[in-house]
Amino acid sequence: MTVATQTLAGALIALVGLSVGSFLNVLIARLPLGERLTGRSRCPHCRAQIVWWQNIPVFSYLFLLGKCARCRRRISWQYPAIEIATASLFLLAAQPLLSRGVDALPVVLRDCVFIAVLLVVFAIDWRHYVILDIVTLPAAGLALAFNLFLGQPWEELLLGGILGAGFFSAQYVISRGRWIGDGDIRLGLLLGLLLGWPGMIVALMLSYFVGAAVGVALLAVGMKRLGSKLPLGTFLAAGGITALLYGEPIIAWYVRQIGW
Ligand SMILES: [Zn+2]
Repeated sequence: MTVATQTLAGALIALVGLSVGSFLNVLIARLPLGERLTGRSRCPHCRAQIVWWQNIPVFSYLFLLGKCARCRRRISWQYPAIEIATASLFLLAAQPLLSRGVDALPVVLRDCVFIAVLLVVFAIDWRHYVILDIVTLPAAGLALAFNLFLGQPWEELLLGGILGAGFFSAQYVISRGRWIGDGDIRLGLLLGLLLGWPGMIVALMLSYFVGAAVGVALLAVGMKRLGSKLPLGTFLAAGGITALLYGEPIIAWYVRQIGW
C-alpha cells in the first residue's frame, strides 16, 4: 500500500470506529434497562428527541459543549469517550491490514467485532456492576465459530474456555458468590473461547494487575474505601482487548524473560 492509500484506509477505519462507537453507546445505555434498541435516542433528562445533527459522533458533543440542545443539562462524557476509544482500538486492530494487506482482513474483522463486544461489557459493568448474559453468551458462541473458521486448533480453544469458565466457577463456588458474580463465569468462557490457550492466561494476568493498580489508585485519591466493590468485568474486558491485540508479543516477551 502507498502512504496515500494507507492514510485513506486509516481515515475510513476511524470513521467506521466512531459510528460503531455511537451504536455501542446505544447498547450500553439501553441493554441494562431492558429497553428496545430501535427508536430514536432521547435526552435522559428532558426526553427530547435527539435529531441527526446532534447525533454525530464526538463532533456533536463538542459543538453542543456537552449539553442537551433543549434543557442544557450535561451529557455524559462517556459518550464521546466510547466513540474515541472504539475508533482508536479499531485503528490499532487494523494495523495488520495496513501493513500486510487484505490477507489480514478476517483476523482484523474478528478483532474489531470482539473489541466492540468487550467495550460494551467494560462500560456496562463499570456503570451497573453487571455482566449481561445476552451479551456474553452469543458472543462466546460467535468467538468459537470465528476462531474455528480462522483455523485455530480446537484443543487450544477448548482449553481456553475450560480455563476461563473454570477459574471463575471455582471462585464463585468457594466464596458462595461473595467474591464474584456468576456473570464473570460467562465472561470467562467468552474470553477463553476468544483468546484460547495461552492467550487467556495473558488476559487474566493483565486484568488482575490493572485491577489492583486501579484499586490502589482509587483508594489513594479517596474515591473508594477498603472493601469497596470494583467492577471485575471492566478489568477483564480491558485485559481481554489487550490480550486480543498484543497477546502474542506479550507471550513471546515472557518466554524470553524466563529463558525457555
Ligand atoms: Zn435535555
